[in-house]
Amino acid sequence: MTTLIKGARVLGGEPADLLLKDGRVAAVGGRLSVPGATVVDADGLVALPGLVDLHTHLREPGREDAETVETGSRAAALGGFTAVHAMANTDPVADTAGVVEQVWRLGQEAGLVDVVPVGAVTVGLRGERLAELGAMADSAARVRVFSDDGHCVADPALMRRALEYVKAFDGVVAQHAEEPRLTVGAQMNEGDRSARLGLTGWPAAAEEAVIARDVLLAQHVGARLHVCHVSTAGSVELLRWAKSRGVQVTAEVTPHHLLLTEACAESYDPVFKVNPPLRTDEDVHALRAGLADGTIDAVATDHAPHAVEDKESEWAQARPGMLGLEQALSVVLEALVEPGLLDWAGVADRMSVRPAAIGRLDGHGRPLAPGEPANLLLLDPAARATVDPAALASRSRNSPYAGRELPGRVVATFLRGEATVLDGKAVK
Ligand SMILES: [Zn+2]
Repeated sequence: MTTLIKGARVLGGEPADLLLKDGRVAAVGGRLSVPGATVVDADGLVALPGLVDLHTHLREPGREDAETVETGSRAAALGGFTAVHAMANTDPVADTAGVVEQVWRLGQEAGLVDVVPVGAVTVGLRGERLAELGAMADSAARVRVFSDDGHCVADPALMRRALEYVKAFDGVVAQHAEEPRLTVGAQMNEGDRSARLGLTGWPAAAEEAVIARDVLLAQHVGARLHVCHVSTAGSVELLRWAKSRGVQVTAEVTPHHLLLTEACAESYDPVFKVNPPLRTDEDVHALRAGLADGTIDAVATDHAPHAVEDKESEWAQARPGMLGLEQALSVVLEALVEPGLLDWAGVADRMSVRPAAIGRLDGHGRPLAPGEPANLLLLDPAARATVDPAALASRSRNSPYAGRELPGRVVATFLRGEATVLDGKAVK
C-alpha cells in the first residue's frame, strides 16, 4: 500500500510531499509523483509524528460499559495518537503476564493504535507486595512502564524495591503521587474555594511530599522514576531541582491541568471532578511554563472514561476522571501553541518523542524522514470546533470540554503507513 501526502508542513515547515510505502516514510520532498499511489491532499495541514500517550484508561477488562480497548483505540486515533499506554487499574488488575498479554492482544485486534499495557507495581494495586514485574516485562506485551495509578505506592520501602527491580530491564515506575493520609475524603483542590464550597480539600502538599520522597529514592537507587499528572506549581519546582541534580526523573501533565482551574468546581458539575484535582490559575501558569521549558517532559491524557451512573451524580459520590484522547492536541494548541509557549517541534517533542522514549517504544516518536516508520498525523491548525460529547468515539461522555470551542482538527492519522483516520473520521 502506497500513499502520497501532498503539501504537508512537516513540524510547521515549508510544504512538502511525503511518500508512505510498506509502513515507512519512503521519501520526503517537493512535487513527488508516484503512479498508483493513494493521494492525500494536505494543503495547509501540519504533519506531526503520531502522538504517544503515557496514560490512558481503556477500562477493559472489567468495565466495558465505560470503554473498551477498541473504542478507546478509535478515540485515540481520532486524537492523532499512534500509541497509548493502557493503565493497569482494570478488573482483573493488569498485575500478571496473562492480563497484560490479553490487553496487548485486544489492541492488536483493534489495530487502530499500538496499545502498550502498563503493569501494576503491586498485586491488586493493594500496595502490599510487588506484582510479577519481571514476568510482565518478559511477556509478549514487553511491559516497561509500571504503575498503580489510581493509587499511590505509598509505602516508601515498597517503592524503593520497585525502583530497584525495574532497573534490571530498563523499566520505569510511574507514580500517582498522592499521600493517602493527607487526602482522605478529598473532593477538590484545598484552599479558600474548597472551604467556601464546603468540599473537603486535596492539598498540594499531598502530591509534592510524595514527589520529593520519590526523587530522593530514585537518586539513591539509580533508577528511572516517572511522575504521573503533575498538578501543582510546587511539583514543577521539585522536578526542576531533581533534574538539576541529575536524578533520572520524568514527568507528565494532563491537558485538563493545562487549561482548566478549580473555578470549574463552582458549578458542582461532577464532570470537573478529577484526581489530582483541578488547581489554581497560578498552578496552570507554572505547569505551562514547566512544559515549555522541558521540566515537564510530556503531555499525557489520563483519559478516564466513566459510565453515566458513575459520573452523573452528586459531586461527592461521582468517580473522579475525564475524557482526554480526542481533545488533547486541541487543548495543547489552545494552552501553549497559540500563546507562543510551544512551537510545532515542541509539540512533537512533548506529545510524541519524549513519551515514546520514556516508554521505550520502538517505532514511535521518530522523525518524519525517509526510512522511518510512517506513524504520523495531519492537523488543520486553522479549524475550530465546538466539542459535542455525543459525537465522541469514546463509549463514555464525560468530557470537561463539552460546549467549548477549541482550535485544531486532526484530519488524518497513519499507523505504519495505513490510515486509521481520514477526513477527520475513523477508517474502521
Ligand atoms: Zn492517577
